[in-house]
Amino acid sequence: MIFFKTDEEIELLRQSNILVSKTLGYISGLLKVGVTGKKIDSAAEEFIRDHGGIPGFKGYKGFPATLCLSKNAEVVHGIPDEYAFTESDIISVDCGVLLNGFYGDSAYTFAFKNVGSDVLDLMKVTKKALYLGIEKCVPGNRIGDISFAIQQFCEKEHSYGIVRELVGHGVGRNLHEEPDVPNFGSKGKGPLLKPGMVIAIEPMVNLGDKKVRQLNDGWTIITRDGRPSVHFEHSVAIRPNGYDILSDHSYIENSIKNNIEIHDI
Ligand code: MG
Ligand code: MG
Repeated sequence: MIFFKTDEEIELLRQSNILVSKTLGYISGLLKVGVTGKKIDSAAEEFIRDHGGIPGFKGYKGFPATLCLSKNAEVVHGIPDEYAFTESDIISVDCGVLLNGFYGDSAYTFAFKNVGSDVLDLMKVTKKALYLGIEKCVPGNRIGDISFAIQQFCEKEHSYGIVRELVGHGVGRNLHEEPDVPNFGSKGKGPLLKPGMVIAIEPMVNLGDKKVRQLNDGWTIITRDGRPSVHFEHSVAIRPNGYDILSDHSYIENSIKNNIEIHDI
């Protein structure tokens, strides 16, 4: 069942998502060639706890870390490790926190300076697709309208592959609630959007084929063809007048303007 949120609950969800956003902004400044995912993960955990939150992913179904760090062909759910970033990497960073009983959830993909224009284009398209999906978050529309907008832009207008196995989701007192929010689908289909719904929209888009597989670590999802994949995510409330984006990528975007090792896409 879908849990509808009161205005007060939406404000609590905003606070959770702002802490996620500030955490992502903070780690944006730490992404440097030679730094390891583990180092970034520890910094994120410390930041979240210093601000009164609890890492939302750590321990979730046994996930061992605060962040999901997925590099290059990894799509999502990568486990931070001792790999040191290179100037050719892209890194998707997904962060969740629990604060005041509610979860925040948001993700962003970062590109180091030697990443090619084909991958930077994939990033721009995926990011734009996220906002095209968000624009459909008005009462009276259906989940399928969000799904269709994302799929149309990424697969029809650009020939990228949209991951089918993983989808966006409702978010609230639980990290994953109903409804599912697929990044593919048909206009006018699926659950009706009503004020009080809060959903995480998160296109996962591959440069090549849409097919993915899971690594033996039981978590990391990776493209089958080994080509790069990109992930952007916002948590969004449906309000009587339209959408209300609860997470805020401006913390990241302002931070990477000052990080010369990361592309400002
Ligand atoms: Mg996420
Ligand atoms: Mg999510």
